[in-house]
Amino acid sequence: APLSSPQATSTTCPYCGVGCGVKATPDGLGGALIEGDAAHPANLGRLCSKGAALGETIGLETRLLHPMMREGAGDLRRVTWDSALDRVAEGFRRVLAEHGPQAVAFYLSGQLLTEDYYAANKLAKGFLGTANVDTNSRLCMASSVAGHKRAFGSDTVPGSYEDLEQADLIVLTGSNTAWCHPVLFRRMVAARQARGTKLVVIDPRRTATAEEADLFLPLAHGTDAALFSGLLVHLTDTGALDETFIAQHTEGFAETLSAARAETPDLAATARITGLAEADVARFFALFRATDRVVTCYSQGVNQSRRGTDKVNAILNCHLATGRIGREGMGPFSLTGQPNAMGGREVGGLANQLAAHMGFSPAEVDRVRRFWGAPHMAQAEGLKAVDMFAAMERGEIKALWVMGTNPAVSLPRADAARRAMAGLDLFVLSENVLGTDTAGCAPHVLLPAVAWGEKDGTVTNSERRISRQRPFLAPAGEAKPDWWVLAQVARRLGHGEAFDWRGPADIFREHAALSAFENNGTRDFDLSGLADLTDAAYETLAPVQWPVRTASDGPHGTERLFGTGGFFTASRRARFVTPAPVAPAPVAEDFPLLLNTGRIRDQWHTMTRTGLSPRLGSHISAPFVTVHPDDARAAGLTDGALAQVETAHGRAVLEVRLDDGQRPGTVFAPIHWSATNSSGGRVGALVHPLTDPVSGQPDLKATPARLAPV
Ligand code: SF4
Repeated sequence: APLSSPQATSTTCPYCGVGCGVKATPDGLGGALIEGDAAHPANLGRLCSKGAALGETIGLETRLLHPMMREGAGDLRRVTWDSALDRVAEGFRRVLAEHGPQAVAFYLSGQLLTEDYYAANKLAKGFLGTANVDTNSRLCMASSVAGHKRAFGSDTVPGSYEDLEQADLIVLTGSNTAWCHPVLFRRMVAARQARGTKLVVIDPRRTATAEEADLFLPLAHGTDAALFSGLLVHLTDTGALDETFIAQHTEGFAETLSAARAETPDLAATARITGLAEADVARFFALFRATDRVVTCYSQGVNQSRRGTDKVNAILNCHLATGRIGREGMGPFSLTGQPNAMGGREVGGLANQLAAHMGFSPAEVDRVRRFWGAPHMAQAEGLKAVDMFAAMERGEIKALWVMGTNPAVSLPRADAARRAMAGLDLFVLSENVLGTDTAGCAPHVLLPAVAWGEKDGTVTNSERRISRQRPFLAPAGEAKPDWWVLAQVARRLGHGEAFDWRGPADIFREHAALSAFENNGTRDFDLSGLADLTDAAYETLAPVQWPVRTASDGPHGTERLFGTGGFFTASRRARFVTPAPVAPAPVAEDFPLLLNTGRIRDQWHTMTRTGLSPRLGSHISAPFVTVHPDDARAAGLTDGALAQVETAHGRAVLEVRLDDGQRPGTVFAPIHWSATNSSGGRVGALVHPLTDPVSGQPDLKATPARLAPV
């Protein structure tokens, strides 16, 4: 069929948080013709290399097609859905009876659709009584969530992608946007060409993004908060504050300014702490001061840090102090990593959240309990990802259900996570491919999930835009939607009535109704305008930005928030938050380098999908470590040599790539390779379990490490 044929299905890319619209037409040969959806506001027809290659990644060769089960130490063997579901329900029933709800955990994924995520949270938190429900999104953006909540009283991204095209200055900090959010980056570059937007890139590593910058600030690892605190002082001293906005819509400014003055009183102090040239700091500050329309985008370099939440708040402080928030072309902007990390947040996919952006205050617990008619409502926050797997290691968690993620590769101390999963009384894994590292950790039950192209539901991208993922292929083999599987287990546990959904539209309506339940404008996440969608309207739902409060919000929802205040704190004022002073990087004598981990342009997560495309594999085909030439020389390594990268937690063998854009004293290795797809590139096994004390997000960017020739 030709592209844009009448048969093309409008859906959404399953990779990054840009959330590009895709038109897909099955080619009749097992693949599909793919093009960008010109009508989708996120990408306006553009796709990056990963999105464009989607048609090459939907074959059945690697798919898990049937439920499988294992008895004792035996092998997994094919079983019927009824047998598998009976075993899951019976296993959870037994663990709950013998050890209580704290012994049960769910580990979910930013790849799940909102409807699946909602069903998992409802079952665990309302009907099994455990809040031990966390997700790989903890590794992705938990610090942004915590920073938003501290400052705004809610987890709200204030702006829209259009702001990037209306800005005169874009600041990218801790974000290799060119590789990790490519379509957004192309929108930024196009805006630069059209209106001369300036670009400042702040990153310890000179990335592809930095190559495009007007000003590149290669700051010392972990010093972002000090840079933005220094900026706050500078804005104050040069008369660039928005005194009216501060007075009418915020609280805590004087205290935060005073702490910033103590740490970064002037340019020289800021330059000293951040390791930047004073002239470069001055140039950045002057640009920020002189430009009204500034958007500051931040991503994993900010979030994945032992001080990630403080970094987020240091950025938000500067935008609040200048009133540059929620208006055209200005605002802080968290770039979400995964396709539905935002949707997961909306349904309470984090262990410290309940559904619809509610928390665990007694009133909120009671509200959700009443809405669900829940018999066993979790009363307090559960364990966050790293703590959850540590509790598993100690034998405190006995039953785990993993859905749509590969923690044996991606978690810090991934080897310990493997051992922990292999020792469980009940380990259930919902997957759509065979042979992942996590599937090698002796699951008792393996459940085949529908994959992209078969899935039916919604996702939310970085600008709060809810889009439909629509099916254009029949489910592979006996694969089923995750929500259906969860509902079947709920039914077997005696809760069928509360999970009696006919399809994803029923779940979406329930989710929207909960967002509106006793809301009265007190919560940011509000889909009351969508709570009565008909099945037909759900089917044709156009991309829409929440909140969608009433019909008066219109078909596109809400573009921006907070331009005139209206924060979700008790006082309705935003809070300035004082970051802790920057502490020295955690380098140990035996491990003199810092290992930074991240993505490459053409792969996604653990490559279970992108690894199927030869085209994508041709960009970078093997795991590597990027090393500054001075550090390589000191370790006796040359370009192309194999190096053993070792930390206190594990080791990997990686090919050395010399790069003078790598800050001396740091090395970088990509996260994508696993035991399944390489012999030694699984870098999660090297990463320390240090987490941000507020958000619980792991510090994936700075594990003390050393290098040696192999
Ligand atoms: Fe998919 Fe992200 Fe690429 Fe868009 S930018 S096509 S959402 S991977």
